Parts: sequence; structure tokens; C-alpha cells
Amino acid sequence: MLEKFDRFPLTFGPTPIEKLDRLGKHLGGKVEIYAKREDCNSGLAFGGNKLRKLEYIVPDALASNADTLVSIGAVQSNHTRMVAAVAAKIGMKCLLVQENWVPDQNPVYSQVGNILLSRIMGAEVNLVDKGFDIGIRASWEEALNEVKQRGGSPYGIPAGASAHKYGGLGYVGFADEVRVQEEQLRFCFDYIVVCTVTGSTQAGMIVGFTKDGRARNVIGIDASATPDHARAQVLKIARDTAKLTGLTTEVVDDDVVLFEEYAYPHYGIPSEETKQAIRLCARLEGMITDPVYEGKSMQGMIDLVQGGFFPDGSRILFVHLGGVPAINGYGYMFLDG
Ligand SMILES: *Cc1c(COP(=O)(O)O)cnc(C)c1O
Repeated sequence: MLEKFDRFPLTFGPTPIEKLDRLGKHLGGKVEIYAKREDCNSGLAFGGNKLRKLEYIVPDALASNADTLVSIGAVQSNHTRMVAAVAAKIGMKCLLVQENWVPDQNPVYSQVGNILLSRIMGAEVNLVDKGFDIGIRASWEEALNEVKQRGGSPYGIPAGASAHKYGGLGYVGFADEVRVQEEQLRFCFDYIVVCTVTGSTQAGMIVGFTKDGRARNVIGIDASATPDHARAQVLKIARDTAKLTGLTTEVVDDDVVLFEEYAYPHYGIPSEETKQAIRLCARLEGMITDPVYEGKSMQGMIDLVQGGFFPDGSRILFVHLGGVPAINGYGYMFLDG
């Protein structure tokens, strides 16, 4: 489905799948849990899911003759860190708009973690006092104009690389990659669990797994705490990506499976249960998840396993999308581990 699209390699190649045996046994041993380690996908600034998307966006950026990548996210955005890394790698400048999407921050929040890395990689970081919204933002438009006024040529990449015409392609390719790995493993996964905020990760997977009838086996766990918006964005990107890739099956509302009950109390703020999930996974598997995204999808998967959502014998693939660098901004929450 992706042959006609240019891809600029930013990742090491297929990401490893490992069995989370101790976690599976701890949760009753009735299902098998595996992790696909998208968090280990690249040598670029700790990697993560945004690189898989950016691989299909970079050729367009290069062809546009732009000299500056412009993007937007929360203060602790992983996506903006990835854009900063890509800009360095392809020799462009980088302007990042970092908005105040997370309330109640501690004093070091805007100095450590992702934003620290973006600054080290030479990105210009503009901190803006605006609330959470995954849509196209006025401050982003302003940043594009700012680059033009300085005589530069901007290439805009929206939040999470999602509302970009090629934003869904990377995770269509993910489904192809999983199918190849399933052949080697000699079994297929019954469920794929993924964290959702700006939507193109789940949207790409839905399109990719429609091919073998598994769109609804992609279990999205919302971490935006604005699930109606997230769900609508997943559906829109999935439909646009289906059209773009020539998928003949129509993507319908029910193909978007999104659990809403784990994002509380707010985007970027972990609940007590999220923190427990982070600790449990870390202590049983040595696998670190973050308080903004993967801790919430881990919490969701654990809760769904415990609640009997997955039939006995299911093989579940937890897709670890990255995000660990943000954990430094949350040090005060884990002073006692
Ligand atoms: C961006 C991100 C997500 C959410 O992916 P979307 O495509 O925005 O829905 C999940 N986990 C991590 C670590 C992320 O950086």
C-alpha cells in the first residue's frame, strides 16, 4: 500500500517484539502480553512513534525547499523533540511552539526532559501560554509567519505530525511490519493496544490492519482527556489515509475503538492508578513508561486484562510508543519510587 510514497529512513528498521512474561503471569496468566518497542526505534534523540510518521513527511519537506521545520506541542512534547532531531539530521533549522497544555507544573517542567533535548539540538523554543487543543493552532500559524518575516522558508508539521496529509502512512507500514514478524513468530496477535492523543498512530494502524480484518482489534487508549475530539480526529485521518493509499474498504465509525476512562485527571497529569501501572511494569519487566502517554495505555491494558475484556488465551501486543524522556519533568512525583 505504501510503494508509491517516498520514505526517508530515520529509524533502525523493524522494532523488536518482546514477551512481557512476568507482567502476564502477575495479571493471572490467562493472556500473553508482548511489547513492540517503538521506543527503541532509532538513534535520533531517544526515538519514538513520531519518527515513523516523519519518515513519510521528510521527503515532502525536502522537496519544498524549506529551510526551517516549524512544529507545535505541549511543553513536554515528544513530537517536538523528534522534529528537532530530524531538523538536525537533515540540516534544517527548527522553530518549536511549546504550549502550556498541562496545568499545575513544577518549576523545572520547562527545563528538563524533552525540552532540554530540543534546546541542545539547536531548536528555537517558544514557550506560549495556551491551553490544550490537538487541532491546528493560531500560535502555529504565527510561528510560520515569523519564519517568513525573517526571510526564511518554513515547513509546518502539525501537532503529533497527525493532521498532515502523510501523517497516517507510518503506522500503515507498522501493520505490514507486524505481519512479517507474525510469520516469523508463527502466530498472530489478537489485539494491538495503543495510546491515542493526536490520532494518526491509531488511524494508520486501523488502515493497515483493515487489510486482514483486524481494524477493530486495535484497542486505542485515550490519553488526551478530550476523547470525542480524539476519536473524530482518528476517524478523519484513517479515512484520508485510506483514500490516499487506495484502500478499497471503507473505514467506518465502529472501526475506531477508543477507551476513554484512563486519561483522567487531565492530559499530561497521571492519576494514582497511572503511577501504579508505571511502577508495576517497571518492577516486573524493567520497561519504563511515562506519565503522559504510555503509563496511561499501560494502565488501560492492565485494567482491561483484569476486567476480563480479552478472552482467555489472547495474545496482546502492547505498542510502546516512546515518551520516556518526559519522565524527568515528573521527578517530584516519584521521590519515593
Ligand atoms: C505522540 C505520542 C502518543 C500519541 O500518538 P498520536 O499519534 O498523537 O495519537 C503516544 N505515546 C507517545 C510516547 C507519544 O509521543
